[in-house]
Amino acid sequence: MQIAIDGPSGAGKSTLAKALAREFRFLYVDTGAMYRAVGLYMRNRGIDPLDRPAVLDALPAVSVELKYEEDGQHILLCGEDVSRQIRENEISRYASDVSKIPEVRTFLTEKQKRIAETCDVVMDGRDIGTVVLPSAELKIFLSASPETRARRRAEELAEKGQTVSVEQVLEEMRQRDEADRTRDIAPAIPAEDAIPVDNSRMSVPETVCLIRGILIGKGLLKP
Ligand code: C5P
Repeated sequence: MQIAIDGPSGAGKSTLAKALAREFRFLYVDTGAMYRAVGLYMRNRGIDPLDRPAVLDALPAVSVELKYEEDGQHILLCGEDVSRQIRENEISRYASDVSKIPEVRTFLTEKQKRIAETCDVVMDGRDIGTVVLPSAELKIFLSASPETRARRRAEELAEKGQTVSVEQVLEEMRQRDEADRTRDIAPAIPAEDAIPVDNSRMSVPETVCLIRGILIGKGLLKP
């Protein structure tokens, strides 16, 4: 089975996807981490992520792999575990910028499709329901109010020792979401058959419970 979770940044996609993967024993795939890894590669080499020829020149040397350990998904960039580095606030913009380049998307989308062929997955991102897994049995478009999303992202960054004000996060998020939503290729918009879920006022267990109900309603899960 394939579950696709899309939505803007800070909507709680990864928290929900991880909880669902645990509940149903599916593999969790965080596709944003893969775009972040490509963004990190460009940042580390001083390559402008908007300079398409320069990014394309560098791309053949980039290898991005996922590894699963007891504590969850780790991301390897050219063999090095960069799971922590990709969470730096600055890398969000690099990820969003490289994600506009069609060749970067093809490179990562093919990997994501291959992973989903091997086992049951919960995949989160921006184009999972529209491009990566268009036949997913369940597609959720998760959202929350901008203030809730900014607060969550600021808290997440603070946990990792990065102090960024909620106002700054809100502004950066607004710009990144706008860029993701309006890009020419694989824009971050809901699939036609996606179910919209606003979790501004819902806890994670409540959201999992809602999704369980949807799966039962669709006959994909026994009550
Ligand atoms: O989900 P996360 O915030 O880690 O994603 C970082 C960026 O990667 C997003 O802003 C978006 O530009 C890009 N992305 C994408 N398609 C995906 C996942 C992420 O374009 N499936």
